[in-house]
Amino acid sequence: MHRKLVVANWKMHGNLASNKQLLTAYIEKLSHLKNTDVVVCVPYPYLAQAQAMLQNTHIAWGAQNLSKDTVGAFTGEVSASMLKDFGATYVIIGHSERATAYCESDENIATKFMQAQQHGLTPILCVGETLIEREAGVMQMVVGSQLDTIINTYGAAVFANAVVSYEPIWAIGTGLAASSDQAQSMHEFIRSKVAAYDLAAATSLKILYGGSVNPQNAVQLFVMQDIDGGLVGKCSLNAQEFEGICRAAAQ
Ligand code: PEP
Repeated sequence: MHRKLVVANWKMHGNLASNKQLLTAYIEKLSHLKNTDVVVCVPYPYLAQAQAMLQNTHIAWGAQNLSKDTVGAFTGEVSASMLKDFGATYVIIGHSERATAYCESDENIATKFMQAQQHGLTPILCVGETLIEREAGVMQMVVGSQLDTIINTYGAAVFANAVVSYEPIWAIGTGLAASSDQAQSMHEFIRSKVAAYDLAAATSLKILYGGSVNPQNAVQLFVMQDIDGGLVGKCSLNAQEFEGICRAAAQ
């Protein structure tokens, strides 16, 4: 089992004042947790604030997206090197809320994954199926093909320094988390899929679960063999709940 990783995804929440309160509470509540890595992915404008408040703590920070391009006339985009300028070390790639609302293709997501890696950022690649796909029993095919786009283009070795987050779309923000068996089974599939091409990459790959994680279900989820931590949306906006989740990871 790996050292656990818990990632807060603040989505489009917060302002300077509320972030200050929340980050202060994170620092107070999480500084003593030595057995787990904690990352907070903030909206772009607050990267400087995260950097200022977190730089001498063991909490890392990152972003929720990045441009697939390196530099140039791409109005509204933010590059990997810009994220690096603000000390970011992680970036979420291909979150389903973006893939759905902004029509991100698997190819775009693969390019962003490599942009992150080439600039020394750890990509957190989100994969997952819809409810219809799960009910049709094709969830492994769906997740497998999301991984294939990267494997076929860049090879499986790129997963050695990456994080994959299994996020069933039906579980995100619904309060209906996957059961620990459902999650474990998909995590095992993801690891074996990468292992079929590159055993070392599969062994070092961290696979997070995301989708309505809370302090209670985190206890059951995080004991599973292939669940290396969580990607947390709603509960990361409440310092006490987020602490509960991080504590479950640290056990
Ligand atoms: C997410 O957005 O990645 C997520 C898992 O959200 P929530 O925890 O709110 O389901």
